[in-house]
Amino acid sequence: MMASEMDKTRALLQSCSTESIISSLGLGIFCMVADKLLQFSIIHQSEWLRSLSDNAIHGVIGMWSWAIVIGIKKKADVGEIILAGFLASVIDIDHFFLAKSLSLKAALSLPRRPFLHCSTVIPIAALTLKFIMHIFKLKDSWHFLPWMLFVSWTSHHIRDGIRHGLWICPFGKTSPLPFWLYVIMTSTLPHMCSFVMYLTGTRQMMPSKPGIRIDV
Ligand SMILES: [Zn+2]
Repeated sequence: MMASEMDKTRALLQSCSTESIISSLGLGIFCMVADKLLQFSIIHQSEWLRSLSDNAIHGVIGMWSWAIVIGIKKKADVGEIILAGFLASVIDIDHFFLAKSLSLKAALSLPRRPFLHCSTVIPIAALTLKFIMHIFKLKDSWHFLPWMLFVSWTSHHIRDGIRHGLWICPFGKTSPLPFWLYVIMTSTLPHMCSFVMYLTGTRQMMPSKPGIRIDV
């Protein structure tokens, strides 16, 4: 069923609440500052520290993005947010798989990019997860999981894109993303996701407040 213009407008308004816009401004600022801090600090001297903090930034961006999508309301949301951060960080282990070694040196000097860094994998993985959950009739409360995977992994790919571009296998890769584009894409991604979640009914729209009418 197609959403009516009215529904679309309401979905747009709800995915761009004042709090969520302020939080994504904060996320944008974090993106701008985090990588700069890495370059100037003592962290830069050690390969391990550099990789760990790089991975931690992926995790923080993943958590922050999901927090914008759901808006923290109850205690249980914190667990969800931590899971989103884990998902955003964990895909870097494919470096070690491809290197077939736990050596950081080997993982960082791969002849090609490891498979979880191919952006085509994201929609495929999200849809597969959705399908699996449908088959096994997983509880409704887990319906957000494919969306979380999408947001976390996409935010990781966008950030890696500053150095490597986006790799859309089997079609090839884009040139490295300009830094400003990375900041804009990262801070708007949660809004786009929650907009689509509202439209597809993954998230329930709040009933419109009595007394407030939106004329469209
Ligand atoms: Zn990566």
